[in-house]
Amino acid sequence: MIAYPILWDSGVYLPEQGLWLDPRKPRPRAVISHAHSDHVAAHPLAYATAATRRLVTHRRRSTGTVQALPYGQSITLDRCAVTLYPAGHVLGSAQTLVDTDFGRVLYTGDLKTRAGFTSGAAEPVPAEVLVLESTFGKPHYRFPETAEVIADVIAWCKGVRDGGATPVLLGYSLGKGQEILSALAAEGLLIALHPSLYGVTEVYRELGCDLPPYQRLGDTVGQPTVVITPPSARRSSLRDQVGEFKTAALTGWAMDRSLKDRLEVDAVFPLSDHADFEELCCYAEQVNASMTYTVLGFDEELATHLRRRGLRAKPLDQVDQLRLF
Ligand SMILES: [Zn+2]
Repeated sequence: MIAYPILWDSGVYLPEQGLWLDPRKPRPRAVISHAHSDHVAAHPLAYATAATRRLVTHRRRSTGTVQALPYGQSITLDRCAVTLYPAGHVLGSAQTLVDTDFGRVLYTGDLKTRAGFTSGAAEPVPAEVLVLESTFGKPHYRFPETAEVIADVIAWCKGVRDGGATPVLLGYSLGKGQEILSALAAEGLLIALHPSLYGVTEVYRELGCDLPPYQRLGDTVGQPTVVITPPSARRSSLRDQVGEFKTAALTGWAMDRSLKDRLEVDAVFPLSDHADFEELCCYAEQVNASMTYTVLGFDEELATHLRRRGLRAKPLDQVDQLRLF
């Protein structure tokens, strides 16, 4: 089997090019695929889309130097050229194509192949080596149609309101929160956002994202009909602000039966900003690389299923790192 010179060390590393993709620790030269904190560190020099750079600087005090690279535009570095393509995950998220002398390496970063409200769907990019995220890389993670999920969320919100309480929807400050906000647009509801989510949403708006009206929780004029808050926010003060409330978590992990109890919420809905299992498999089949390396999440399970479907696949962290040198 060919060993491609690609390593895993808390991030994807191309040693011959001296290039890191989403390393967790500061590295001399890196690509930041998107602004979620588990993909960001303060590197001396990093490349990212302008939207990712703006979101990173909003969320972190120390960011290192981040050079903006527009989608589809290549930059030549040592022994390679780097091009970013939309990843569909959150605003500014990118897949990274590294063109090397051993072939094209495509790193998906966090990936979503169905269209969202705030970022377009990821398209497959031809490559010889695919490095594929595996967050929902197990067969039971098959998400229903987005429109169906949203209709269920709206019906739940109305039911909670009819019962005299305020519906509180839980979603991450960056990405999910704005997707939920957009999904509720047509309902004409008074929507209040938790302050951290409000701050990121203001940046989304500044970056040209078309969003329905919203207010900052605490500054609302009138009683909010729906509240959106990050799952990590303390719920103890909510009662003072909105009175009786009920909570629902919107996440792909809703496919796990235990989630509702684990999160101590009243309802769960499978709305995700990632590809589900079948979408990951289809994506790998469409790229049809000579080698697919799985990373993060259920990397072993996903690699096993991809092999059953006729692809060469392996978790990147199981590559024999010493054989490469
Ligand atoms: Zn992410």
